[in-house]
Amino acid sequence: MIEDLAFLEERAAGAGLAGIPTKVRNGERLTPEDGLALYRTPDLALLGVLADEVRRRRHGDVAYYNVNLHLNYTNWCNKFCTFCAFQRRPKDDGAYCLSPEEVHAALAEAPAEITEVHMVAGVWPALPYAYYLDILRAAKAARPDVHVKAFTMVEVDQIVKTAGKPLGDVLAELQEAGLDSLPGGGAEVFSERVRQELYPKKMGAERWLELAGELHRFGFKTNCTMLYGMTETLEERVEHLTALRELQDRSLAAETGGGFQTYVPLAFHPEGTGLAHLPMPTAPERLRSVAVGRLFLDNVPHVKAYWVMMGLETAQTALNHGADDLDGTVTQERIYHDAGSRAPQRLDRGRLHRLIREAGFVPVERDTLYRELRRFEEPSEDEAVARTPVLEV
Ligand code: SF4
Repeated sequence: MIEDLAFLEERAAGAGLAGIPTKVRNGERLTPEDGLALYRTPDLALLGVLADEVRRRRHGDVAYYNVNLHLNYTNWCNKFCTFCAFQRRPKDDGAYCLSPEEVHAALAEAPAEITEVHMVAGVWPALPYAYYLDILRAAKAARPDVHVKAFTMVEVDQIVKTAGKPLGDVLAELQEAGLDSLPGGGAEVFSERVRQELYPKKMGAERWLELAGELHRFGFKTNCTMLYGMTETLEERVEHLTALRELQDRSLAAETGGGFQTYVPLAFHPEGTGLAHLPMPTAPERLRSVAVGRLFLDNVPHVKAYWVMMGLETAQTALNHGADDLDGTVTQERIYHDAGSRAPQRLDRGRLHRLIREAGFVPVERDTLYRELRRFEEPSEDEAVARTPVLEV
């Protein structure tokens, strides 16, 4: 942390961020105008310094990861989002839908050390309600000790429609079948203008926020996301973050134990999508998105640099721009790899530790709820020989 506030303010004045270092130092909430200034400033280094101050105040010198399995149980989808390379109709080449038995087998064959399975997929209304309950039960039957984090808000919306029951009953039944928490995806960017242009069949902001609020009131932890780098404006990004922050205020006030745990900014990957002509967000833009999230979302505990999406080296650098979490070891991820991510499918523990330690932090293995499982103060043998894969997104 740079102690000299006068120095920071002097630099901020020349970067369109006057007054923001003082607010950050005092823990004051930033306004939407401040958020816009953060997105616009040319001084990414200063942005990183400010976000790092907040990140270290909250989490000290540790950086989190978990040991997890990503299971995209089907790519059948009827939403036809322009930005998505993952979706298929059942008769398309490469279409698949895992049976509960296949979900069971995937969990049973997963590395013994996983503590979480992250299950998200497309949306196909013909799948019966029982299917969702069965895949949860199958996951739990195979690995009762593994935390099941599943279903974006878009999937939840479809599951509730398919069930034809009140939301509260559906949530209770999903929980009974094994659902432990939710990843919170499907928000994309809340702009109705962008939705009409790129994903008109997908739910709008109002329904996403309504569902997230209901999940929190029920007591579920979720994450929150923003897909950036498509056609949204910076103002629309700030409006998105503001809506997330306002919902989190309400959810925390309800004191049910539910709420957003982590903000995950997701960089748009154009390859194979209907927006292949757009450039991918650059590394500085990805770092900026992490830093703005850390500074603006003052009521969300964690910010994740999701390395599958950011690329390893940018995610590693993001640990010094406000991120405190690199996600996990991740196997079998398909959504970003179908859209051209060249990040590896899996990182072993030694590689993750090395990425974290090279960035100046102590690796801490967490569970899904950020309970510390193991802290690795000293480099382990596997870390010493681990080589960081050179492929980048
Ligand atoms: S982003 Fe999700 S909802 Fe949209 S088409 Fe892809 S799988 Fe379907």
